[in-house]
Amino acid sequence: MMAQPEEFCREFAEAVRTLKERLHPCPECGNFTEEDPCPICSDPFRDRTVLCVVETAEDLVCLEQASVFGGLYQVLGGRVSPMDGEEIDPRILETLQRRIRENGVKEVIIATNPCVEGDLTYFAVVDALRGSGARLSRLAYGLPVGGSIGYADRVTLHAALEARRQVNDTNI
Ligand SMILES: [Zn+2]
Repeated sequence: MMAQPEEFCREFAEAVRTLKERLHPCPECGNFTEEDPCPICSDPFRDRTVLCVVETAEDLVCLEQASVFGGLYQVLGGRVSPMDGEEIDPRILETLQRRIRENGVKEVIIATNPCVEGDLTYFAVVDALRGSGARLSRLAYGLPVGGSIGYADRVTLHAALEARRQVNDTNI
């Protein structure tokens, strides 16, 4: 910052100051936005029959930057963590149920983190969506791309073995 011109620093400070005033959670998905609904929810080219549930808006940004998902999102804005006394806001789960009904959602991908809190959050979402008619799935566990089996821990190796996929036809 010290190397930047004074004008840049003034504009940067102003941008930070107005950030919190302008941004608010999208009433549909919970993503931070200046518009209602957010640009993702209002994009007509996105698949409205697939919803990806993430814990935070940061997780949504990561998935968006990777350009790996073309459906809509639901930000939980929290996780289930008994140690920290955290629960998912029931209103978020109601919004999720409503969006599944209204958009005729066929699949809900639960993209919670691969840890104990992520597991508990996953179970809470599955519980809330029981009887919704949508297919529920969860991101796979496994070895990191570009990684090495030699460096993987025991739990990751076990999860990767459990989540293995058949790659040939049994008739071959
Ligand atoms: Zn949205």
